[in-house]
Amino acid sequence: MSQPFLPFALPEIGEEEIAEVVDTLRSGWLTTGPKAKRFEVEFAAFLGDTSLHCVAVNSATAGLHLALEALGIAAGDEVIVPTHTFTATAEVVRYLGADVKLVDIHPVTLNIDPLAVEAAITPRTKAIIPVHYGGLAADMPAILDVSRRHGLKVVEDAAHALPATSGGRMIGTLDSDATVFSFYANKTITTGEGGMLVTRNAALAQRTRVMRLHGISRDAFDRFSSKVPSWHYEIVAPGFKYNLTDIAAAIGLHQLKKAHAFARRRGEIAARYHEAFGTQGGLPVIPAPQPLTGELHAWHLYPLRLAEGAAVARNGVIERLYADGIGCSVHYIPLHQQPYWRERYGLTAAMFPHSQRVFERQLSLPVYTRMSDGDVQRVIHAVTRAVAEPMG
Ligand SMILES: *Cc1c(COP(=O)(O)O)cnc(C)c1O
Repeated sequence: MSQPFLPFALPEIGEEEIAEVVDTLRSGWLTTGPKAKRFEVEFAAFLGDTSLHCVAVNSATAGLHLALEALGIAAGDEVIVPTHTFTATAEVVRYLGADVKLVDIHPVTLNIDPLAVEAAITPRTKAIIPVHYGGLAADMPAILDVSRRHGLKVVEDAAHALPATSGGRMIGTLDSDATVFSFYANKTITTGEGGMLVTRNAALAQRTRVMRLHGISRDAFDRFSSKVPSWHYEIVAPGFKYNLTDIAAAIGLHQLKKAHAFARRRGEIAARYHEAFGTQGGLPVIPAPQPLTGELHAWHLYPLRLAEGAAVARNGVIERLYADGIGCSVHYIPLHQQPYWRERYGLTAAMFPHSQRVFERQLSLPVYTRMSDGDVQRVIHAVTRAVAEPMG
């Protein structure tokens, strides 16, 4: 192997992030404090609406759990989730004792299919969790329309979608009940581990702030803080330990400043892939779904699919790419294939034909800011070779 291994994903951490973490370590305030607060304020500004409530948490999973808890999701309820996602989107429903109703995706957009959502609604249905797969916004006008007609809550899993738009509006500023972003190490911006819950609903924001830190009521503290010593606090619920540390927020403050530049670079890489893997490339592949004109795609993932008539199977392509020193992955093994979800709900592949078909033919190519133009070219050459030649 003459060329070094090209990983599937790498974070981009600069001297600014490092200096801010060092400053935090020296400050004496390590956990949730002034930097987490600043990160929340700057996150709302980034989304372009300072009236939004932003609640920093230690993962998107935590944020999704808190949002559903605040919306009153509980045992006996059903929540609709696309099968083509990471298990975190669905597991939070089970944390609360409610049940998950998995639905299929649209074969062109690879996002949750609003018609499948409508067909899955029962008298027990309480909420929908659309996922913006790969960073392409789900069909939010249709999802929000279904939710209004049926009186359902909507919590967006925006783990892939910073920054992305729907109808020209930033994901995070739409009319859903809450939107949750992830800052996991391989996401579009990172804090190592972390997440942000965004909502327009002041009561929901208040409940999630209390529940992210043990159910400690800040209201009680604030009300009495001038009259009683600072050791006083009240527990109003058995809350969780989901707060974001200032060490993590320190990284996030600088990642956020770079988020648009990061997105532009990922967009450039995706455009190169599109040129090579679109119809003019002549390869037996289907390029990633493109955003509508004028919309922002976050390009967290570049999902490539093998077309009908490709001489090589998906697993063979992945093996060849690895042999050429290129990391890639599959997003996702759909939830209906995973033992827990399959067995709990008696699911079969035939119930989710679009997701199943995508799973069998899909691979995710590297798309991250630290890739050079040469790296991108290398991936294109390796994929071209891997899909064009039958197995020897
Ligand atoms: C990464 C991811 C999550 C979970 O994010 P964490 O911050 O790791 O909890 C949830 N949903 C999707 C679709 C993801 O890709």
